[in-house]
Amino acid sequence: MADVLTADRTIRVMNPATGEWLMEFAPATADAVNAAVAAARSSQTAWAATPVAERVAVLRKFQRSLHEQKDEVAALITDEAGKPRVESLLAEVLVTLDAANFCAREAPRLLALQRVPHANLALKAKRGYLVREPYGVIGIISPWNYPFSIPASETMAALVTGNAVVLKPSELTPLSALRLKALMDEAGLPAGVLQVVVGDSGTGAALVASAIDKLIFTGSVATGKKIAEAAAAKLMPVVLELGGKDPMIVLADADVEIASSAAVWGAFMNAGQTCLSVERCYVQKDIYPVFVERCVEKAKRLKVGHGSDPQSDVGPAISQAQLRAIEAQVQDAASQGARIVTGGHRLPDVGENFYAPTVLVDVHHGMRVMREETFGPVLPIMPFTTDDASVALANDSQFGLSASVWTKDRKRGEALARRIEAGTVMVNDAISCFGVSEAPHGGVKSSGLGRTHGIAGLEEMVRAKYIDSDLLPGMAKVWWYGYGSDFLAQMQGFTDFLFARRTTARLAGGMKAMKAFSRRNRF
Ligand code: NAD
Repeated sequence: MADVLTADRTIRVMNPATGEWLMEFAPATADAVNAAVAAARSSQTAWAATPVAERVAVLRKFQRSLHEQKDEVAALITDEAGKPRVESLLAEVLVTLDAANFCAREAPRLLALQRVPHANLALKAKRGYLVREPYGVIGIISPWNYPFSIPASETMAALVTGNAVVLKPSELTPLSALRLKALMDEAGLPAGVLQVVVGDSGTGAALVASAIDKLIFTGSVATGKKIAEAAAAKLMPVVLELGGKDPMIVLADADVEIASSAAVWGAFMNAGQTCLSVERCYVQKDIYPVFVERCVEKAKRLKVGHGSDPQSDVGPAISQAQLRAIEAQVQDAASQGARIVTGGHRLPDVGENFYAPTVLVDVHHGMRVMREETFGPVLPIMPFTTDDASVALANDSQFGLSASVWTKDRKRGEALARRIEAGTVMVNDAISCFGVSEAPHGGVKSSGLGRTHGIAGLEEMVRAKYIDSDLLPGMAKVWWYGYGSDFLAQMQGFTDFLFARRTTARLAGGMKAMKAFSRRNRF
C-alpha cells in the first residue's frame, strides 16, 4: 500500500464503538489510481489465459485460509465496523465462504462454450456459439456497512471469470479490504491482479474516471447518480447496488411471535445499517396492537454494546454523521405526530455513537422516516386494512431493493410478493437473501441497476461474444447480391413457406423459394 500514500492529507480509521484510531492513511491520488489500473491491466491478460480450473484453485485456497482465520477476520470487521462479532462471522465471513463455493462451482459452467442452436431453416448450415470473455479490469467501489462480504463476493466473481480488479473500499473501513487482498495473495493470486486503492470520494471519482472497463458500485443513491453520469459520458458499463427502504408486510394470519422477532432483528441487526434492513413495517390492523406490543417488548430486551462483547445484540452507528442523520429523521417524525414507543435517544453511557433501538408508531408517508433510507436502529410500524392497501403502501417508495411478506399461507404470500416492486421479495424471512449465494442481488427503481451474486452476478463480469461458424464455406449465400424481381418473388415464397398459416400456401411458397438456389445472377 505504501506506493499509494502520496497525498498530503490523512484520513483516520476509527473503531466506532470505542473511538480508538485503527489506521491513518493518505487517500490514493488520481495518479496512484491510474498506476493501479495500469498494473492490473498488465497482469490481466495472463490471468485470463490461466485455465479456469487454476483460477478456481486460487479461490479454494482463499476459502480455506479465510475459514482458518475466520475469528481473526471477524474480530477485525467488528473493530472497524462496530457490528456484533457473531454478525461479522455470519454476514461477512460465512457469506463470503459460501460465495466462494458458488463461484468455484458455477464459473467453469458459465465459461464453457455454449451452443446457440438456430431454429430458422435458412440458418441451419451454421453453428453458433457463445463465449464469455472477461471485461478486463473491473473497478469495485464498496461501502462501510458490509466491509468484507460485499467487496469479497464481487471481487471473487470478477477474478474467477478472468478479470483483474481495482478495489476502492470505504474510507471508514479499509482494513477489511486490505485483509481480503492479503488472503488472496496468500492463496497465490498472481501479483497485480487485485489492487486495493485506499481513499475517499476523490479516490473513488478517480477510479471512475480511470481506464477501467466496468464498475461495480455499492453505496448511496446520491453517489450512484454521480457515478452513473460520469460513466455515461464515456459509455462505461456499471452495476449500481444502491439504497433501500425495504417494506415488511405482516398479514393478519401471520404468526405474531415469529413476525415480531423478525421485525426487531430485521430493523436492528447491524444497528439498522443494512441495505436490506426492515425500514418500514406494515401490519394488518387486527393484529397491529399486539404486534407493536411484542416488538416493543423485544426491542427493550436487546443489549446495546460493543460488538466485541459476545452478549451485545446491537452495536454502534458507524459515525457521528450517521447518528445525526438518524436523529434528524426521528425528530422529523415526532414533530409530525409520530409516537416514540421505545428508544429515540442516544446512549452516551455505552459510547458516543450508540443509539437506542427505537420503535415508532402513528407514522405516515409524509414523514422522512417512511420515505428516506434511515440506516439506523429505527422500526416504524403502520397499520393497514386490505392486501391491496399493503401493496400500495409497499410500492409507494422511490426504492425497490427487497421486501418481505409474512403469512401462514405461503401461496397468498407468494402472490403478494409478485405485486411488490423490488429486486427480491422474501416470504416469511428478511435480509437473509443476501446470504443465498445462488440468488441475484439488486434492486429496481432508485435501488439500482444490474445484479451481483448468483449467475446474474457472474454474467455481469463477462461479455457474451457470439461466434458464428458457417458449415458451407464454399457456398455464396442465397441472400447475397443478385437481387431482382425473380429473387423478390422467391423470397416472398420462402417467407410464406416459413410463416403462412395454410399448408397449401406454405408448400406453394416452398416451391417458389427453391428456384433461388439455381438463379444465375448470384455473385
Ligand atoms: P456512499 O455512497 O457514501 O459511499 C460508498 C462508496 O463510494 C465509498 O467507498 C465512498 O468513498 C465512495 N464515493 C463517495 N463519493 C464518490 C464519488 N463521487 N465517486 C466515486 N466514489 C465515491 O455510501 P456509504 O455511506 O458508504 O454506504 C451506505 C449506502 O450504501 C446506503 O445507502 C446503503 O443502502 C448502500 N448499500 C447498498 C447495498 C446494496 O447491495 N444495494 C449494500 C450495502 C450498502
